[in-house]
Amino acid sequence: MSALESQVAVVTGAARGVGAAVAKKLAGMGAHVVLIARNVDQLNQIRDEIAKDGGSASVLACDLTDAAAVAQLGRSIAETHKRCDILVNNAGVGLNGKPLHEVTADEWDLVLNTNLRGPFLMIRALAPLMIAARSGYIINISSLAGKNPLPKGAAYAASKWGLNGLTYSVAEELREYNIRVSAVAPGSINTDFGDHAGRGAASGKDPNKKLQPEDIASVVATLVTQSAQSFISEVLLRPTHKP
Ligand code: NAP
Repeated sequence: MSALESQVAVVTGAARGVGAAVAKKLAGMGAHVVLIARNVDQLNQIRDEIAKDGGSASVLACDLTDAAAVAQLGRSIAETHKRCDILVNNAGVGLNGKPLHEVTADEWDLVLNTNLRGPFLMIRALAPLMIAARSGYIINISSLAGKNPLPKGAAYAASKWGLNGLTYSVAEELREYNIRVSAVAPGSINTDFGDHAGRGAASGKDPNKKLQPEDIASVVATLVTQSAQSFISEVLLRPTHKP
């Protein structure tokens, strides 16, 4: 029997990069994975790739900055699946390379609304299913930028420092329901993140970056199969340098 058989995992930002790798990993472990992002075509492609590998996935397009849409998403998952065993809050945008005094209020809001308010809305929508089941895993994909200063990336850093604070606080709140809430805080990962986040082409895919999306997926897989005694609140992924 697969480790996550008959479980439902919800992964945000599953259209590409880390989220797609996490979704594939969890599907490979037997979970049905609900894929969430805005781009339906890319989500359908990931769903088809999962199905080709013998896994099970479905697509729910949603803009996580839209509170009403996230609430509706939660109702839809509750109606269709009646459970949510794993929530991975992975969707995120960056805004690097810009001094704070040049950042517009709209840019600030987009970063904070996606990276911090989005996970809040998702937890608010799905935690009741986990509380009812008295079990579950919530994993927030943070960043080393949430543990360190990030000059010319203050909005992004603030969102990830905030996400860590949300994680540790909710971890304490939900512990009594046997729900484990953790943050994974990686360094640079080889994805298209920079291209979509305004960091410029130099920060996009680069095979020399030490972390691959699959590395993050492996950590998520470990977290969702923790022993009953473990309540890990944070995993830092600081790649070692080549000798
Ligand atoms: P990516 O390749 O740019 O993917 C981001 C995902 O988030 C996409 O699926 C995107 O899909 C989705 N998304 C963005 N805004 C959204 C919104 N408003 N509503 C719904 N979905 C939204 O980024 P990645 O590198 O995989 O990053 C994943 C996570 O890892 C992020 O939280 C990031 O902060 C974190 N991280 C990344 C790095 C890195 O170097 N790449 C390092 C540390 C931490 P749509 O555009 O279709 O919505």
